[in-house]
Amino acid sequence: MAETLTLPGFVNAHSHTFQRALRGRRRGADFWAWRVEMIDEAERQTRDSIWRDYAETYREMRAAGYTAVGEFHYLGLAEARSAVEAAAEAGIEITLLLTAYGRGGAPRFRQESVADYVRQLDELRAAGTRVGCAPHSVRACTRQWLEELGRFAAAEQLPLHVHADEQPREITDCLSEHGLRPIELLDDTGCLGPRTTVVHATHADDHELDLLASSGARVCLCPTTEGNLGDGFAPLERLRERGIAVCIGSDSNVRIDPLEELRELETTARRMTGRRQVCEAETLLCFGADEGGAALGLETWPDIEIDLEHRSLRGLDRSDLLDALVAGCAADVVAG
Ligand SMILES: [Zn+2]
Repeated sequence: MAETLTLPGFVNAHSHTFQRALRGRRRGADFWAWRVEMIDEAERQTRDSIWRDYAETYREMRAAGYTAVGEFHYLGLAEARSAVEAAAEAGIEITLLLTAYGRGGAPRFRQESVADYVRQLDELRAAGTRVGCAPHSVRACTRQWLEELGRFAAAEQLPLHVHADEQPREITDCLSEHGLRPIELLDDTGCLGPRTTVVHATHADDHELDLLASSGARVCLCPTTEGNLGDGFAPLERLRERGIAVCIGSDSNVRIDPLEELRELETTARRMTGRRQVCEAETLLCFGADEGGAALGLETWPDIEIDLEHRSLRGLDRSDLLDALVAGCAADVVAG
């Protein structure tokens, strides 16, 4: 039996699992053109295709060392149940982040009202599903929706996940509609707090990051997707300067490898700062596991075993092991 090291399982705090189908697809010259392709793919999904394809992709996540996933789901209530069944089939813990979508997107993304959304969330909870409240973005939710959802999530002590500041156009649109930047609007509508996870924050300015820090909110960074979509660079050092907690997500699932997400975060920050060790390996591994668990409201999730006899760890000093995992290993170092 090979020698192994036990680590907490990685937690994938942000996944749109159906987008795995777009891996490697060239069409879509920028984020907005890609989004048209993505919506076409979303409209093709059925309960059966979700049950089958999500189980396969969740197995891919499980093999890569993710033992829990936050499914940021906007394909409908019955389809949410299929995603939960697929996770059980694949043996991965799931928090179903049911998306509140008031305007735009495709018809299947949207609910009639916040009351309609809450009814859907309550149905999932009644069936024993772990859930979070997920206003999709300031694009998809009006100020009134954000206010109601912020109040609801706080009263129910639910995780609240929301996309913000992924693309510059979202910020200019928000400024022209509200006179506020996206994270300023989330603060103003009561959506920021210690159970909040803001996904991306790529183009957040200093004031927005200060608001995240003072509210105790987390940020979920998804570097392989953000790179693939041309979003920009994650502001890792500015987040860390303020003590803002960070977790990771595979998001569009163009790549499923938690060590690669962590390596991209660190090496991008090194390029931007001209320094090495912006975050220590222990800290990065904590982003990949414990912070994701906290973001999804998990108390426990399965551990993983690292194969210490894997060829990518050959000849190393044991004291360099965690650094070597982040710097030089891919997910195949996780023992099956
Ligand atoms: Zn997303």
